Amino acid sequence: MLIHLIVESSLKATRISLRFLTCSAVILLAASALSQQTSPAHGPAVVPSYMDRAVRPGDEFYLYANGTWEKNTEMRPDRAFESPASDIYDQHEQQLQNLITEAAKANDANSRRIADLYRSYMDEAAIEAAGIKPLQSQLKVIASVADKHQLARALGETLRADVDALNMTNFHTENLFGMWVAPGFDDSDHYHAYLMQGGIVLPDREYYLSDSPDMRDIHTKYEQHVAAILKLAGLDDPDVRAKRILALEHAIAQTHWTLAEDNDVHKANNIWKIGDFATKAPGLEWNEYFRAAGLDKQSSFYVWQPSAFTGESALVASMPLEDWKDWLAFHALEQYASVLPKAFADEEFSFWGKTLNGVSVQQPRWRRGVALVDGHLPSELGRLYVQRHFPPEVKAQVQAMVSNLIAVYRQRLQGITWMAPSTKSQAIAKLDALYVGIGYPDRWEEENFDVKPDDIVGNLSRSRQAKYLRERALIGTTVDRKRWCMAPQTINAVNLPLQDALNFPAAILQVPSFDAHAPLAANYGAIGAVIGHEISHTFDSEGSAFDAKGRLRNWWTKDDFAHFNAVAARLVAQYDAYKPFPDLALNGKQTLAENIADDAGLAAAYDAYKASLKGQAAPEQDGFTGDQQFYIAYAQSWAAKMRPSALRNEILTDTHSPDHWRVFEARNQNEWYKAFEVKPDEKLYLAPNERVQIW
Ligand SMILES: [Zn+2]
Repeated sequence: MLIHLIVESSLKATRISLRFLTCSAVILLAASALSQQTSPAHGPAVVPSYMDRAVRPGDEFYLYANGTWEKNTEMRPDRAFESPASDIYDQHEQQLQNLITEAAKANDANSRRIADLYRSYMDEAAIEAAGIKPLQSQLKVIASVADKHQLARALGETLRADVDALNMTNFHTENLFGMWVAPGFDDSDHYHAYLMQGGIVLPDREYYLSDSPDMRDIHTKYEQHVAAILKLAGLDDPDVRAKRILALEHAIAQTHWTLAEDNDVHKANNIWKIGDFATKAPGLEWNEYFRAAGLDKQSSFYVWQPSAFTGESALVASMPLEDWKDWLAFHALEQYASVLPKAFADEEFSFWGKTLNGVSVQQPRWRRGVALVDGHLPSELGRLYVQRHFPPEVKAQVQAMVSNLIAVYRQRLQGITWMAPSTKSQAIAKLDALYVGIGYPDRWEEENFDVKPDDIVGNLSRSRQAKYLRERALIGTTVDRKRWCMAPQTINAVNLPLQDALNFPAAILQVPSFDAHAPLAANYGAIGAVIGHEISHTFDSEGSAFDAKGRLRNWWTKDDFAHFNAVAARLVAQYDAYKPFPDLALNGKQTLAENIADDAGLAAAYDAYKASLKGQAAPEQDGFTGDQQFYIAYAQSWAAKMRPSALRNEILTDTHSPDHWRVFEARNQNEWYKAFEVKPDEKLYLAPNERVQIW
């Protein structure tokens, strides 16, 4: 597995805005994942009223820390996810909306674009009046495709920079293929183009291939959704076309790699010269495809999933032209349906919100509008956000915590007995070279596209195009290791393995993850564990694949690796044994890197917490010792209620374990047993030699 990424926070906000860039449908999810308000503002301090003292911490630590909150929390109809910090997240969205509203009154160009983009989405009357006219010319071009040569051109024109393997673990797109521009595996000083599989709309190949009754049901409803969208767009025989589109996507899904395979960087290191495509993946007219994508002058590419390229390209040749044209038309509609007239947007919600995530009521339009501006003008909105909501003192305090965590890691690495000295010194070199971005980037990147106040479809189309051109122009240029991949207003954190860098956006450095006035125990249990998690990725199963310069080079000895793999296998087994549904367990392999990061991050945060006390006794709070506060704060930072369908989606598509099970990581920590006097007869108890300790 790999490295990566994201979605560390209990919030799913990032996934959302990220997906929004690639799939308009997702705005619904995005918004629905954000949450709400049941309780007073929840800071990182321990909140006793959330706990269920009837549960023994050693039996079910998540419910011990969060059981009463869980019992008393009603899932609001427009949400797929609730957490005690929901009101904070709502407040965060409100802050973004206020910035957008104020931008409408300002006169500078930056503010103007923000206001115009928002307005173009909020003006429902104009959207109704335009109907599907904004997409007509694109649909006409698709309809006019007369042969496979022209098909290759039409497919090449859809290529976008809408995947990101290692930072965002986003391995496929709805378009035939996707491009990610990043430092080269073998040439980390320059940007290269990585190409990835695509062509399916449902979140993962499993949705097409699984035989479980629930998945079959989703599949059937998806076919109805495809037909409904085609019918709304006025295409004849929508049911017949939908069947053909499903058959094609099903065939594409069969060529796709699984998430666990995608996560293996060593399998992804495949350089294809531009001339290799015709022989290694015959079918698609690659010359025409690359010409249409403006990539015909590139000499080579990294191809992440070679067999998927071979398989998809063969399907371009073997499947009828008419099927591909239906597929193209549907994908064009689907990418914009949520910003088309109400009948389209409602159909989108009906499938993506209700069927896929179990949400019964759609989010208010303003929330969806905020998510849209956030997704398409991230830097522009980010600058306003940082000016207003990120005081320099917070940056300084978090910087100090990061330094403490790094010092702990240095010590822990030096103390490991099983690691060879050469491996250790290279691990420490990575730590020394690590760039830790806190709050916002040193250099802002503009989103360079024309925003018109009355053209939402055009705005999104130009945004995606501009991003693609910007990324494409980077190919071959010198890498900026301090380049960010996440907006400051995103509540999340990320490790960028090819840059040996971490980003902690301003928005995660606030309650509930961090509070300047909370006890140290709580801050280290919450944001401290997140920082520790991200640093761990620097050395983990994926981090071990990249050296201090970000090159794909295994710097571990064979023995070290064997030891690491043996320990990791025990962690895989531990997570494979968790069964949220009778027919669906967690996938220990798919979530391994993230589980390791949780394990190591929690251990390092604990050490950093102890060091921060500088020998003083920790103050008790509500009868809890400092150590108890630390672990309860950790568990409470992952409090979350999800709808079953959303949880199922997460288990299948996310490289992180669901929040509830992330809390069980505590059972690998010796200090947790001491803090709560956990006994061998308790359900989470592990004998000392069964506890997994990585670093
Ligand atoms: Zn992670």
